[in-house]
Amino acid sequence: MAFTLSMFPVSYVAHYDPVSGRWKESWIQKDAITEQELAAMDEQKRSEVLAERNRFDLPLVNYTTQYGFGCFEGMKAYPRKDGSVALFRPDRNAARFRSSMEGLYAPGFPEDMFVQASVDFIRRNAEFGYVPRYNPEWETDSFAAAQAVYMRPFMYSEGAIGIGISKAPSVIITASSVSSYFSGENTKAVTTERIRATPKGTGNIKCASNYVISALAKKEAENAGYMEVIFLDAVNHRYVEEGSSCNIFFLLRSGELVTPELGDTILPGITRASIIDLARGQGVAVVERKIQIKEAMTEAVECFVTGTAAGITPVESITHQGREAVFNNRKPGELGMELQRELKGLQYGLIDDTKGWLARV
Ligand SMILES: *Cc1c(COP(=O)(O)O)cnc(C)c1O
Repeated sequence: MAFTLSMFPVSYVAHYDPVSGRWKESWIQKDAITEQELAAMDEQKRSEVLAERNRFDLPLVNYTTQYGFGCFEGMKAYPRKDGSVALFRPDRNAARFRSSMEGLYAPGFPEDMFVQASVDFIRRNAEFGYVPRYNPEWETDSFAAAQAVYMRPFMYSEGAIGIGISKAPSVIITASSVSSYFSGENTKAVTTERIRATPKGTGNIKCASNYVISALAKKEAENAGYMEVIFLDAVNHRYVEEGSSCNIFFLLRSGELVTPELGDTILPGITRASIIDLARGQGVAVVERKIQIKEAMTEAVECFVTGTAAGITPVESITHQGREAVFNNRKPGELGMELQRELKGLQYGLIDDTKGWLARV
């Protein structure tokens, strides 16, 4: 499974001091157990080690635990064909993280510190074998089963009980190994009547509180036999917005690749931005605009969702108000597969990084 929490031994913690306006950085090394040694342990011992790695000396009662007042990032480090390791567009995660924090009226975490800490984080954990080596077998299924390091930087507030704004937050970087996010054959999606994000809300901020509704809607979709849920807009309940934690694209009959335009209810995905770039580079007409669910269901010949966790995941059909629209005979579409090959090729080092998207560790 993709998201079991198998935390790395070394974590990064930075505390903000509102008096000096400085961030005080530190590294926490919980143990020196290598990934190999961990894998050789019995279940009981391994879970004790992992539980201890997830124990931090941070305030329990605070804005984050009480009110979901926090934000996070999801980014990956990739083992590359030439033996190196690289982060994919960490400058973009750094910029989004800073604007998420500022969007919460918390002090923005400096972008250069974010990138440097992320690089150092991978180096320190690599010493204990936690960064996978490149495996040529991954090429056989276009990296569907390839491994990467999933990094989770996040904000955590100081101790507090009343509702308020964090003035002295901490930023923590942790990670877990992952393989492909969506597993299994079912790639059906269904719309939900739940609302993920409202105008003037926090839908464009990667903040913790947004994910409760996503988790509920996804659970309901899964219980009904679907892989993914699709949110429609809050006002008209007519326009497609996003998946549970991924952006969405439709290739229309006309040849246009459409994705909902950014606004205060759409999370500005870095995969989304990269796919728009890559598709344009392939000569595809990409349009960022509102798209009605009706139009998507009648005009789309291909649909896929994008995000760091999933990369590009094809969607075989969308069910809306009891009607199912099937795309490309339920098979992954040409364009999505081609874009996935290019994206993974760049990330795993099969294709030259002419765009400067990869930051060597
Ligand atoms: C993180 C996230 C995405 C995808 O963003 P990436 O930067 O591509 O990983 C899309 N939608 C939501 C709601 C998200 O939280």
